[in-house]
Amino acid sequence: MSAQTHLFRCLTDNFGVLIHDPATGATAAIDAPEAAPVETALRTTRWKLTDILVTHHHADHTGGVEELKARHKCRVTAPRQEASRIPAVDATVSEGDTLKVGSLTARVLETPGHTAGHIAYVFGADNLAFVGDTLFSIGCGRVIEGTPEMMWQSLLKLRGLPDDTRIYCGHEYTAANIRFAKTIEPANAALAAREKEVEKLLAAKKPTIPSTIGEEKAANPFLRADVPEIAKSLGLAGQPAWKVFAEIRERKNRS
Ligand SMILES: [Zn+2]
Repeated sequence: MSAQTHLFRCLTDNFGVLIHDPATGATAAIDAPEAAPVETALRTTRWKLTDILVTHHHADHTGGVEELKARHKCRVTAPRQEASRIPAVDATVSEGDTLKVGSLTARVLETPGHTAGHIAYVFGADNLAFVGDTLFSIGCGRVIEGTPEMMWQSLLKLRGLPDDTRIYCGHEYTAANIRFAKTIEPANAALAAREKEVEKLLAAKKPTIPSTIGEEKAANPFLRADVPEIAKSLGLAGQPAWKVFAEIRERKNRS
């Protein structure tokens, strides 16, 4: 049986998401921004929390971990490199490790840049990837602890996933990301189509995610730093892609 997911909002603009294995009843929360919305989601779905899979140490991804663990006795899995900055960790993982949520299998990708030890969880058999604050729809996370070159390599790793991989990210930033993306690629038809779709979703008070890797490759400027026309339009023709990425990220920081 394939995995089921349940997406909900937390804090101001964070997403919470549960992944559920119908075969065993196991359920993981991907990050835990705060406990109460996760509890509401568990009541709505009648799923039992067995795992929390943490992508990185920021408080808006870990604030609910201790409370949820105390109540549900769930197992907390965290990136090895920053486990000391995350509460109540039971298991640590790094690049290439696999872990089980019931009978579902996740593979761990290290995606440093936003934080130094950030990881993503890829459920390949279900075409699902939980990417935290590395990749957003039509955007990417701020490069806080790493370098632009490191972040570009992390984004390339995610870009290499199959096109039909559904991407769950940590924040609802899509509308603002689209406004910025249009300044980089004003004539991108896939971006224009995504803008129309997102306007409709937000008007209906629906989340704008998940998107797919295929959609992001076509419209997300941060995954397109190696498109020669973009480098040229930024005055960086012939420069390495990571430098083009760094310029796009810098412009977004100032926008
Ligand atoms: Zn973060």
